[in-house]
Amino acid sequence: MAAVAQPRLSPAATEAALAALKQLLGDRFTTASAVREQHGRDESWAVPSPPDAVVFPRSTEEVVEIVKICAAHGLPIVPYGAGTSLEGHVTALQGGVSVDLMQMNQILKVNAEDLDVVVQPGVRRKQLNEYLRDTGLFFPIDPGADASIGGMVATRASGTNAVRYGTMRENVLALTVVMADGRVIRTSKRAKKSAAGYDLTRLFVGSEGTLGIITEITLRLYGIPEAMSSAICSFETLEGAVNTVIQTIQAGIPVARIELLDDVQVDAINKYSKLDMPVQNLLLLEFHGSEAGVAEQAEMVQAIAADHGGNNFQWTTKPEERAKLWQARHDAAYASKALRKGCEIMATDVCVPISRLAECILETKEDVVKTGLMAPLVGHVGDGNFHLAVVVDRNNPQEIEAIEAFNERLVHRALRMDGTCTGEHGIGRGKMKYLTAEHGEAVAVMRAIKKALDPDNLMNPGKIFSI
Ligand SMILES: Cc1cc2nc3c(=O)[nH]c(=O)nc-3n(C[C@H](O)[C@H](O)[C@H](O)COP(=O)(O)OP(=O)(O)OC[C@H]3O[C@@H](n4cnc5c(N)ncnc54)[C@H](O)[C@@H]3O)c2cc1C
Repeated sequence: MAAVAQPRLSPAATEAALAALKQLLGDRFTTASAVREQHGRDESWAVPSPPDAVVFPRSTEEVVEIVKICAAHGLPIVPYGAGTSLEGHVTALQGGVSVDLMQMNQILKVNAEDLDVVVQPGVRRKQLNEYLRDTGLFFPIDPGADASIGGMVATRASGTNAVRYGTMRENVLALTVVMADGRVIRTSKRAKKSAAGYDLTRLFVGSEGTLGIITEITLRLYGIPEAMSSAICSFETLEGAVNTVIQTIQAGIPVARIELLDDVQVDAINKYSKLDMPVQNLLLLEFHGSEAGVAEQAEMVQAIAADHGGNNFQWTTKPEERAKLWQARHDAAYASKALRKGCEIMATDVCVPISRLAECILETKEDVVKTGLMAPLVGHVGDGNFHLAVVVDRNNPQEIEAIEAFNERLVHRALRMDGTCTGEHGIGRGKMKYLTAEHGEAVAVMRAIKKALDPDNLMNPGKIFSI
């Protein structure tokens, strides 16, 4: 992916804007090159593009003042959470200021009786669950990285638990947002449902920093289940594993997690996380419920798996064994990267209706083999969502060309099957070219919304679509 950074303002105009920000924030404003470099990249293979400065606000009021200064000078604004996104989301393509929200990391109020919590955007998902542990409640959305809640809202993230608990779309109740002109809005109250006007909460969930800066979030919580167990089951064929998933979902078995790892991914994880799982296609499952319910669900899935050639079904309720398995799953991308020294990962994800999952995965696997890629496959397959971590040597132009062509075929395959070009990573700048193929005329409506709310295109310019 070529670097396309083009500063929006002249050096003198940028200097004037930065001087005003420095005056506002003192030592929470920096132009240090190491900090700018760090904020100009995410975890993708997108070419980095550093901002002119980075600021660290501590309150909604400070965010308002920052936005007003930027609006007055026309300086682009790139909101920044934990920087773990995967499609070049935080690259400062037109220069400007990176607004790092990680010092706004307070858990403001747990409403245990209502099963909700109010947090600032810099709270990380693991921090939230550690804080909640003694309340008997938890927040289920778990992208592999320890992302910020603000970033998770902005990318409409999900993870291994989405098959049971939904994604950020289902679990955000309300937001406080600083708009591009400095106005502050609250999108909703705490009521579990509302029919009052347009659903602005859902508009900002997945807006990737292009519409405003999220400074407060109300999330749904869930009771920690009485019993939890994890299971693994191996399959000689990918088809057997995927058909087990499809039948499990279609039978309405309320699995909490059902993850697919192909044999290449299992091998990588074994080496990276020092495990000894059979090097075959693998389903990794979790069941939540009562003791009896969990046992019954496991038995039903075991029977379905047996019909599709599943073997070696093992399950455990021991927390430390469960934690080890799921940590290994969350480290899958790093395990893939470790397969080839000095290489990077091109992570991509698509999602299709569950009835098309087997077809999509099998065609994709055939494509991987034919193209000769090293591309472990892993997926939150209960939702029809799967990922490839294509291991790439950035210094090899032929390899990059082959991978880009492969990604394009993958996306069009998913679209042909009534799926989406991304189930959870988002568009950023990596998948912009597919948005019109997926949404057609609806992209013009998205553009109209962007222009109405951010007429000067200050907020994270160059992402989702061009203006
Ligand atoms: C190993 C690994 C595994 C992953 N697994 C998953 C997975 O299973 N599921 C999944 O969904 N994702 C996954 N991801 C991707 C990533 O973790 C998510 O996209 C995450 O939601 C990004 O959060 P962040 O805090 O890192 O945001 P950033 O990367 O900092 O920002 C992401 C986007 O959100 C915007 N943004 C950030 N904070 C705010 C705010 N307060 N207001 C407005 N805009 C804001 C930014 O401008 C940017 O456009 C994975 C990433 C890695 C590295």
